[in-house]
Amino acid sequence: MSNMRINKNEPQINADERRFMISELKISHRDIDLIHSELEANKPYEACGVLIGTINGSTALVEKALPVTNVKRTRTSFELDPKEHYDAWNEAENTGKEVVGIYHTHPVSSAVPSLWDRETMQNDTSVWLIAGADGMRAYVWENGIKDVKITQY
Ligand SMILES: [Zn+2]
Repeated sequence: MSNMRINKNEPQINADERRFMISELKISHRDIDLIHSELEANKPYEACGVLIGTINGSTALVEKALPVTNVKRTRTSFELDPKEHYDAWNEAENTGKEVVGIYHTHPVSSAVPSLWDRETMQNDTSVWLIAGADGMRAYVWENGIKDVKITQY
């Protein structure tokens, strides 16, 4: 269990069927810049955080990217700080939003899910945004990795 990113005591992401239909992630230039800054600032370790916003049909709209401490602090995996993750959930809920996804960085490799990512994604139905050395890509798990189109606004 120590490898599990999500602690049982944390609010869980609902295995809501609609998430499996998400095909587009809209994110602002400001948040893209923020994630790039986080990637650089935490090198050579991975950085991570949550994406807060709303889901409309097949589109997840990110209204705020919120950095969360990577308690694992390794070059190849991440674990969201449980307290910060919980606070982010509360903040989202209190403002009528939700955590539509999570992001993490691959400072020295491409934005392709690692083996660890793939295993962890299977327990998390939200959108996974990965900022790699070669740019950003987004995914959801639906009986396998499915690409999500990133649109900037
Ligand atoms: Zn990864």
